[in-house]
Amino acid sequence: MAVLAAQKQSENEAFRRFIKQQNSAEMDALVFPIQAEVSAEVDCTSCGACCQHLMINLTEAEIEGPAKHLNLSPAEFIDTHVEVSSQGQMIMNTIPCHFLCEKKCSIYSHRFEDCRAFPHLDKPNFKDRMFGTLQYYGICPIIFHVVERLKFALSFSHSTTESL
Ligand code: SF4
Ligand code: SF4
Repeated sequence: MAVLAAQKQSENEAFRRFIKQQNSAEMDALVFPIQAEVSAEVDCTSCGACCQHLMINLTEAEIEGPAKHLNLSPAEFIDTHVEVSSQGQMIMNTIPCHFLCEKKCSIYSHRFEDCRAFPHLDKPNFKDRMFGTLQYYGICPIIFHVVERLKFALSFSHSTTESL
């Protein structure tokens, strides 16, 4: 998929500019059912590609579950797994994630909100998040298929939008 993403880079940039000109509510109304359809077809539990690339933000409240699962105290969990900024912001201290084990999350039922929310295609205002979405076009099969189905649904053609 990375090779295809490189080949489609210019087309996708044109598509991003095209999407930017569309009505936000209409775009969301189109994207939501497509993302629901694609998400039902893709098995995240046998993919794990985002876990290899995402920087995971977490909160103190989310630590208790995985810490208990690993027989660690919350303080030990933070020491070994978390980078804390001077403002108290927490991120996982490895990419790929500590908990990725042969494409599967080893703490799946305790995974963090940041993990659950990715790839964010069910959130409002898709059109203004296209730049971030396309960063993972070559990584996440859900994003890849949603973007391609959206191009089809909008009859988008790179050749007719080269002046955009
Ligand atoms: S906690 Fe699990 S779902 Fe979240 S990034 Fe790590 S391996 Fe992936
Ligand atoms: S990269 Fe996309 S398809 Fe793969 S596990 Fe993450 S969200 Fe699911």
